[in-house]
Amino acid sequence: MTNDNIDNNLLISANESLRPTHVEINLSAIAENFSKIRELTYPAKVMAILKANAYGHGLVRIAKFMEELGADYLGVAVLEEGILLREEGINMPILVLGGILGNQVPLFLRYDLAITASSIEKLENINAAAEATKTTAKVHLKIDTGLERIGVHYYNAEKFFERAVACKNISIEGVYSHFARATESDLSYTKLQFERFSEAVSFFEKRSIKTPMKHISNSGAILQFPEANLDLVRPGIILFGVYPSNEIEKTIHLEPALSWKSRVVYFKVIKSGHPVGYGSAWETDKNIRAVTVPVGYGDGYFRAMNGKAKVLLNGKKYPVIGNISMDQIVVNIGDDSAFNNDEVVLIGSQNGERISVEDLAGWAGTIPYEILTNINTRVPRKYIKVSGK
Ligand SMILES: *Cc1c(COP(=O)(O)O)cnc(C)c1O
Repeated sequence: MTNDNIDNNLLISANESLRPTHVEINLSAIAENFSKIRELTYPAKVMAILKANAYGHGLVRIAKFMEELGADYLGVAVLEEGILLREEGINMPILVLGGILGNQVPLFLRYDLAITASSIEKLENINAAAEATKTTAKVHLKIDTGLERIGVHYYNAEKFFERAVACKNISIEGVYSHFARATESDLSYTKLQFERFSEAVSFFEKRSIKTPMKHISNSGAILQFPEANLDLVRPGIILFGVYPSNEIEKTIHLEPALSWKSRVVYFKVIKSGHPVGYGSAWETDKNIRAVTVPVGYGDGYFRAMNGKAKVLLNGKKYPVIGNISMDQIVVNIGDDSAFNNDEVVLIGSQNGERISVEDLAGWAGTIPYEILTNINTRVPRKYIKVSGK
């Protein structure tokens, strides 16, 4: 590991000296993951899904990096994320995946963002707004094949498509759907959704209309259902080196990009009979050594991990004791030693030992997605490039 590749500008802007708690993102890992996804799904185009602050990795920096890597498209959840990317100078095609409200359409048009049309009524709104400004709206038609979130039901798709092709101020760039269970080992529901989608989009061929770009595949399907790659794939979590579930087929090796680190700010001995933390939930029956680390649930270090969480210190795993506070945790180091400023790893590796996002998800009773997207924006992100791990 060398320091040569560290992006110094970003290190400085991340205010390293102010608070030791920070997230470190290895862009080289993201580059490796991206190229493996590209290879696995070629010739499909790749839409990098960067919603929720790029799964906690930092929306703008990751979007710029995706542009460098040659991603074909970006996908975000809400209009504001798309506008921010345009204001930061991102010129590549961007699709907003979420639902729209009528009065948002002029903003989509102004910022050249592709719109998800999920009902005939919304289609009419989009068309009318585009007509009023004498522009053409880029639209992806959303079909619901079994998630029951947004989109026109597959069994009503024909009417929707008919209306869409008749809209003069709409350019139909894509037609898409989303899987509900592609991260499971049993793919029968995924196959059913895919059949519904294929049947619905056959409309275009049957009417001899050029079929728009078809897409349905998320991380789960990319890894274990290649048939669904179609014209474009939409990877999210696997770009960041995290598998979407424990039971998924690990078709490609992924490199986790995110580490979460802090430092010891306090050392003390805790005597037996002196409980630790709010609610006095933990007590020792013999003297122990402990350190305090400045991170807590206010940073996204979930309180649900009480009694389960461990951290790495001097290459060893130690338990977090007492209830997790908003800004601090206490770590039991038994009879070992530690010093102020020693590095503490919450997620990542230290001297060959490792704590994964999956570990935290297990302790908190949730999925890796929720751990990543909840690391608060008050935690500075630092970007490094360390390849060949
Ligand atoms: C979040 C999302 C994705 C990416 O999901 P991953 O499981 O992270 O790959 C793809 N498509 C849509 C519509 C999404 O909302």
